[in-house]
Amino acid sequence: MWNGKTAIITGGSRGIGRAIALALAEQGADIAVIYNGSEAAAQAVCEQASAFGVRAQAYACNVADPIQVPTVVEAILAEFGGVDILVNNAGITRDGLLATMSEEDFSRVLDVNLGGAFHFTKSLYRHFLKKRAGRIINISSVSGLMGNPGQANYAASKAGLIGFTKSVAKELAGRGITCNAIAPGFVRTEMTEALPEEKQRAVLDQIPMRRFGTPEDIANVAVFLASDAGAYITGEVIRVDGGLYI
Ligand code: NAP
Repeated sequence: MWNGKTAIITGGSRGIGRAIALALAEQGADIAVIYNGSEAAAQAVCEQASAFGVRAQAYACNVADPIQVPTVVEAILAEFGGVDILVNNAGITRDGLLATMSEEDFSRVLDVNLGGAFHFTKSLYRHFLKKRAGRIINISSVSGLMGNPGQANYAASKAGLIGFTKSVAKELAGRGITCNAIAPGFVRTEMTEALPEEKQRAVLDQIPMRRFGTPEDIANVAVFLASDAGAYITGEVIRVDGGLYI
C-alpha cells in the first residue's frame, strides 16, 4: 500500500513532525524532511527512517519564505519523482498577552504557521491535480478551536489553518485530493517543555484523560489520514487532545 509513496513533512526534524515522519517511513513511505535550523536532528531522522528500508532526505527550507518553498518542492519532485502526502506541521509560538504582543511576533507566527501551509500546498497542488490524488494533512491545535490567553497570534494562525483546510478540501475534493487537519491538545515536545511548570500542571488538571499527549498519538492519526482507510475523509478536523476540548 505504501511502497513507492512519498511524503513531505515540514518541521520533520523535531517533536510531532519527527514522529509523523518516522511513522510514515515505518509504513514504507519515502520521506522528505523539511527543517529550518536543526540540520543534525533532521539528518538523524533520515538515518532512523532509512532503517525501515525507505528513501529519506532532509531539506533546509524556511516554510515562511515564498521563494524558497517552490524551489525546494521542485527539488523534491525531481529527486523522488513525485509526492503523495503533504504534512504541514512546521510551527512556532511567540506567546504574550495582547497588550505587549509586538507586530513582529504577531506576523511571524502567522507567516510560519499559516503562510507555510499555504506556500507548500500551493507549490504542490498542480502536481496533485495532475495525479488526481494527494493527501494534505495540516497540524492545527485546540488553541485554534478554543482560543488561549497569551496566544492571540498562535490561536489565530491555527484557526486560520482550519479555514484553509476546509476551503482547500472543497476546492480539490473532486480531483481525488483530501485535505484534513489534526488539532492536538498538549503534547510533550520542546515547544511545550518551554512552558513554566505551574502552567503545565494547570493544563494537566484540565485534561480529562489526565496525561499529556505524545508525538506518537498525533502520528497515529496522520498515518490513518494518509492511508487508504482515510480515503473518504476530507475537510475534517480531528482533535487528539485527551478530551481537553470537550
Ligand atoms: P517543536 O518541537 O518546537 O518543533 C517545531 C518544528 O517546526 C521543528 O522541526 C522546526 O524545525 C520546525 N520549524 C519551525 N519554524 C520553521 C520554519 N520557519 N521553517 C521550517 N521549519 C520550521 O514543535 P512541536 O510541538 O513538535 O509542534 C509541531 C506542530 O504541532 C506545530 O505546528 C505546533 O503548533 C503543533 N502543535 C503542537 C502542540 C504541542 O503541544 N506540542 C499542540 C498543538 C499543536 P527546526 O528545528 O529545524 O527549526
